[in-house]
Amino acid sequence: MRLTMLGTGNALVTKCYNTCFVIDGEGGPVMVDGGGGNAVLRQLELAGLDWRDMRDVFVTHKHIDHLLGVVWMVRMICQHMEQGDYDGEARIYANGEVCDLLRSAANDLLPAKHARHLGERLALTEVHDGDAADICGRRMEFFDIGSTKAAQMGFRMGLPEGGTLVCCGDEPCSERGERYARGASWMLHEAFCLRSQADVFHPYEKHHSTVADACELAERLGVGNLVLYHTEDANLARRGELYLAEGAPLFGGGLYVPDDLETIELL
Ligand SMILES: [Zn+2]
Repeated sequence: MRLTMLGTGNALVTKCYNTCFVIDGEGGPVMVDGGGGNAVLRQLELAGLDWRDMRDVFVTHKHIDHLLGVVWMVRMICQHMEQGDYDGEARIYANGEVCDLLRSAANDLLPAKHARHLGERLALTEVHDGDAADICGRRMEFFDIGSTKAAQMGFRMGLPEGGTLVCCGDEPCSERGERYARGASWMLHEAFCLRSQADVFHPYEKHHSTVADACELAERLGVGNLVLYHTEDANLARRGELYLAEGAPLFGGGLYVPDDLETIELL
């Protein structure tokens, strides 16, 4: 199993792409979020992934840095279904609000002959807090992260070699998320900026955490490995080095600060 980061930035980045990623392995890839637009297609291409293989897409929430790239995936899939050069089916999983938005976006923005495939061969599956599903042969359990900004879902995925991967969405892991994240082999968690630069980037006002916060949380939850994403991009060239320097003393597990297009083996 591997994790490929298509993007690692927060909503307003310009020097990297918004956070979205693919978890790939036997059974097929699961794509999580689409970033903020058409560049998702470029990121997939640069990562050596074929958009046609992204047949299971999970959308965490409606914010446009996560959702609009999925509108492009809908367009590509539906257009090629209509043209007759896309075989089989695909599925999008999201909460009711996101499903409604994707349905309206397709109906309002895409030609009717394309939009008609959404809800048919491109299925829209609504997921709720506590739901579980078998996706690409892996058990995925969805949980509402309890955001006060917009309804947002995280998930826990069983890994074939044992262990679990937990995605906490793009806000600090809440108490309900902790139930899923405790003891996880892999935790994917946002880190808006360094704690030492909290005065510059104001993460708390935006319901985000710092590198140090995420590392302390992961340590308390007994997580095996922590992947930090959804960051600022002012430090991009030295982000890995700076974030690891702040976080590593606080977390005893494997700490990862990937760049866009980086792949991490989920061992
Ligand atoms: Zn976001």
